[in-house]
Amino acid sequence: MNVYDAARMTDLLAENGYDETQAEADADLVVLNTCHIREKAAEKIYSELGKLAIVKSERAAQGREFKIVVAGCVAQAEGELVLRRQKAVDLVVGPQSYHHLPELLARGARAADTDFAVEEKFRELPRPTPSQIAARGVSAFVTVQEGCDKFCSFCVVPYTRGAEVSRNVAEVLAEAQRLVDSGVREIVLIGQNVNAYRGADAAGRAVTLERLFERLSRMDGLKRLRYTTSHPVDMTQGLIDAHAALPKLMPFLHLPVQSGSDRVLKEMNRRHRAQDYLDIVARLRRARPDVALSSDFIVGFPGESEEDFEATLALIREVDFASTYFFKYSPRPGTPGAERPDQIDEETMRERLARLQDVVEAQRHAFNAATVGRVVDVLFEKPGRHAGQIGGKSPYMQAVHAQGSLDAIGRVLPVKILAAGTNSLSGEIVEARELE
Ligand code: SAH
Ligand code: SF4
Repeated sequence: MNVYDAARMTDLLAENGYDETQAEADADLVVLNTCHIREKAAEKIYSELGKLAIVKSERAAQGREFKIVVAGCVAQAEGELVLRRQKAVDLVVGPQSYHHLPELLARGARAADTDFAVEEKFRELPRPTPSQIAARGVSAFVTVQEGCDKFCSFCVVPYTRGAEVSRNVAEVLAEAQRLVDSGVREIVLIGQNVNAYRGADAAGRAVTLERLFERLSRMDGLKRLRYTTSHPVDMTQGLIDAHAALPKLMPFLHLPVQSGSDRVLKEMNRRHRAQDYLDIVARLRRARPDVALSSDFIVGFPGESEEDFEATLALIREVDFASTYFFKYSPRPGTPGAERPDQIDEETMRERLARLQDVVEAQRHAFNAATVGRVVDVLFEKPGRHAGQIGGKSPYMQAVHAQGSLDAIGRVLPVKILAAGTNSLSGEIVEARELE
């Protein structure tokens, strides 16, 4: 979602006379779009700001402008504290108030704006131009839902992104249509709890995510649909059935479970048991037998015993994930988990993380190796690393590269997979004819 938000801020600043640059030396304004989910991410911001403060004083000596904006969830969580901790910062804007940037810049004073104005934000953000869309590639994110009402006991998201809000159906369809008209071929619907989506239709009735997918599926030119991130308790049978009914909905699902221990799940306030998760996976596989799964895991949640951790490994073995993200528990200010006296020591966390990593890496390699020899549909997205190569994604989110011409970008072509590397697959295009 930070990628999506960064693109929106770029569009907004472009309307106000700024051009995007990757070179800090050229910049008159730097926006740090920050993440507060784990301590390490949040602390990085201050070291980065320290470096930018030096640039700012060098610029001042030359009489040149250099503005520093801190956006994102650290901005939301710390607000004015950021201005106090680093004097070089000009503006602080939260994830639901960054549409105020032009106004704040025009005012010129140092300020922190952390309003929760999500609906106003979507109303006021400018539409990207066709050339901005084309420059960002054939796969695009569309935020359909923001915020979270779940309050998992380890997580800051409900505090930084605010309460759950869904964008209405007409707004989502219009944004999707503009993307498709400018060459986008895959849309990834995003939200902190995307499968809790309940957007209003023209009559004010709540529309579920599967109904939204049905509408998007009818859009000519749009070839692939994906969504992330989903919560197990919102994984309804209707949405599972959509995986059987809608060929454009890709057979890959990121469905974080966090732990395989019922005791830990309860203390995390996840509102489901390990068996509920396994049941969802079984129903998904009945609906779409080739569906590939990925998950997030937290290792070392307070009070996690060796037995709890082994239950996590058992769940991982049972599900057999295509890919997995795993994190050491990081106590976050203001969350119930951070207050607990039974924090797990660093050494135990490290040791468990390494054991988990062995299991999930073996699964990922086996999943990729099983694709070798098969023909998979690849949506080509960009030039490859080597001359004459192009790269794209399999239906299962695997990176694939093959020899091919640049005009294949934006097309879905059948590719015979010849080899599986550590991070990508390589193959050859078997037919230059585009698939429907
Ligand atoms: N809404 C999604 C996840 C959002 S945060 C969900 O419910 O699954 C992305 C991931 O960061 C989480 O799935 C979790 O694994 C990880 N995470 C969140 N808070 C964390 C913390 N305090 N320490 C370590 N990992 C954390
Ligand atoms: Fe955080 Fe996801 Fe839990 Fe919400 S559901 S509190 S975003 S982990």
